[in-house]
Amino acid sequence: MNKTILIVEDNPANLMLATTVLEHAGYQVLSSETAADAIAKAMTEMPRLILMDIQLPGMSGLDATRQLKAEPATAGIPVIALTAFAMKGDDERILEAGCDGYIPKPFNYKDLLARVATMIGGAQEAPSP
Ligand code: MN
Repeated sequence: MNKTILIVEDNPANLMLATTVLEHAGYQVLSSETAADAIAKAMTEMPRLILMDIQLPGMSGLDATRQLKAEPATAGIPVIALTAFAMKGDDERILEAGCDGYIPKPFNYKDLLARVATMIGGAQEAPSP
């Protein structure tokens, strides 16, 4: 069963933390540091879930999400935004872009794993009969 997660994050420390936590839990992890690379990887690798930083150099995570959701091949991949914004209205902006939810940063590893497991199940779970 596909449990590959694509993490899109331009901050090396955040990327390393999320990658380490998810790999330790047994997920396959791909990473991108830019929106353009994330779109290319999503198209070729078809991850089960995308964790998308909003503030990226160049194209934003929201614009990347809009592109992914407009493309039939990738429209079905859930996108969870990683956002440092906690301002009122941002959640609406994030959902309007097509994101399936968001995780406020900084997040702790338990919150991250719980959210991912809610979306796609645990990495070690057997497929449903
Ligand atoms: Mn960022």
